[in-house]
Amino acid sequence: MKAPGHSGRPPRPKLSPEASGEARPPGSVRPAVQKPAIMQEPVLVLNATFEPINVTAVRRAMVLMLKGVAQAEEINHTHVHSASRALAVPSVIRLLAYRHIPQQTRALSRKNILMRDRNTCQFCRRILPASELTLDHVMPRSRGGRSSWENLVACCYQCNNRKGDRTPEEAGLALARRPRPFTLHTSRQLMRLIGNKDEKWRKYLFY
Ligand SMILES: [Zn+2]
Repeated sequence: MKAPGHSGRPPRPKLSPEASGEARPPGSVRPAVQKPAIMQEPVLVLNATFEPINVTAVRRAMVLMLKGVAQAEEINHTHVHSASRALAVPSVIRLLAYRHIPQQTRALSRKNILMRDRNTCQFCRRILPASELTLDHVMPRSRGGRSSWENLVACCYQCNNRKGDRTPEEAGLALARRPRPFTLHTSRQLMRLIGNKDEKWRKYLFY
């Protein structure tokens, strides 16, 4: 997929993690706090049954807590300050109502594909911030390639330009690995990978 306006390497302004984060739907709730780096830290999300189901950012986790949808199970020491109060930063949250998660049909989204591919360009294998990655149709759309888990991969802008409307073979590029759907296994593996940094996650992920 070629994003219009990206004819070459995008400019690299010094973006804060906040500014370079994923686009958000308009009207979504966000706490009025000022520490973007902390707000982007990963938080493990447990179902009501304590089963790990997802990883989200501190910002989103705090929104779920403020809405009364989730409660903190593990807390980081740092606090962030809203206009009126200091809030503890969660490391692990748990949904208060059980949610059925159809693991085999995880949404096909840019965010999930970048997560599956671990923010790694699948052609040159560089690990890049989300803002410097796009999605590439392995078999180009112009030649019948579908937008599916098996045909979309994380790709840097240089490789995307180089590949153009060709297959990887035609462009002399090789895929790092065959793209697969996001399964329960994939997501549990990813949660463990991310969770390696946080001792508090271990008891929920390694059992
Ligand atoms: Zn690349």
